[in-house]
Amino acid sequence: MPELPEVETVRRGLERFAVGRRVEHVEVGRERVVRRTSRAALVDGLTGTTVLAAERRGKYIRCPLDSGDELMVHLRMSGQLLVARPGSTRPPHTHVVAHLSARPPGAAVHGVLGDGPVELWFVDPRTFGEMVVFDPDHVAVEVPELARLGIDPVADPFTRRELRELVRPRSRQLKALLLDQHLIAGIGNIYADEILHAARLRPDRTSDTLNPPAEARLHTAIVEVLAAAIDAGGSSLRDAQYVDLFGGAGSYQDAHRVYGRTGERCTTCGVGWVRRIVIAQRSTHYCPRCQR
Ligand SMILES: [Zn+2]
Repeated sequence: MPELPEVETVRRGLERFAVGRRVEHVEVGRERVVRRTSRAALVDGLTGTTVLAAERRGKYIRCPLDSGDELMVHLRMSGQLLVARPGSTRPPHTHVVAHLSARPPGAAVHGVLGDGPVELWFVDPRTFGEMVVFDPDHVAVEVPELARLGIDPVADPFTRRELRELVRPRSRQLKALLLDQHLIAGIGNIYADEILHAARLRPDRTSDTLNPPAEARLHTAIVEVLAAAIDAGGSSLRDAQYVDLFGGAGSYQDAHRVYGRTGERCTTCGVGWVRRIVIAQRSTHYCPRCQR
C-alpha cells in the first residue's frame, strides 16, 4: 500500500500538473470508486471547479477546489493517479477520468506535458481506492477518518516534543504505535520497519521503555527515513502497483535494510540476520543484533 512518501510524491506531481487547472468534465466507470457518495456526486462536485492546491494528510490526498469543497483521494492497496495527454490509450481498470483544462495564459510551462489540456486518470485494479468530493466544514461527518488522523510527521511541525507526548504516556509496541494512524499519520508497514531499524529499536519494545536518547533516535529516524524515501520517489515493490503521476517507479526499495529481507544478513551490522515476526497482524522485519 502506498505510504506517506509515495502519496507525497503523487501530491507533488499534482501540485505541478493539476493545480490551477479547471475540471472540464469527469467520467466515472466503476461505481465502487465513489462508494461513499455516488457517481453523480463526484461528477457534479468536480465539474467546472478549479483545483486550488494539492495537500496531503497521512496517506490521504486533499485538493481544495474553488467551489469551497475539497477532493479527497485515497489510493489504498493499488490505486494510481496518472496524467496523460487527452486521448491517450487508458490502461485497464481506469475508473475515473477528469479532463483538465489548459493552464491560464501566463502560467509557467511544466515539463513534458506542457500547459495544454491533460487527463487525470484514477486507475485501480483492486478497487479499494476511492475519490470523494466533500465539504471541509463537515469533514467529521463526510470523511470521519480524515478528521481523526494524528500528526503528520512531514506536513506538520514534528519535533521531539511531539513524539515524546505520543510515546511516553503509552505502553504500546513500537511497531503498532507507528502504524496507528490516529497517533502518527502516514507510516505503514514498510516505513515502520525501516524507521525502527534506523533507530536501533526492536519493533516489539514498548513505547514507555524509551529513555531520552532512544526517543531522540526514533524521532531522527522518522524524519530522516521519510525524507530520504520522498527524495527517492517512494518505494515500488514487485507485488504493488505504486507509481508516480507519470507512471515512473520510485527507488527507495533499493535502500530497504530490513523490509522484505527475511533471512538475509543485516547490511547495517554485517553480523545479524534479518528476522520476521508478526506484530499487530503485520509482517515485521528487524535485525536482533542492531535493534534492542
Ligand atoms: Zn544488524
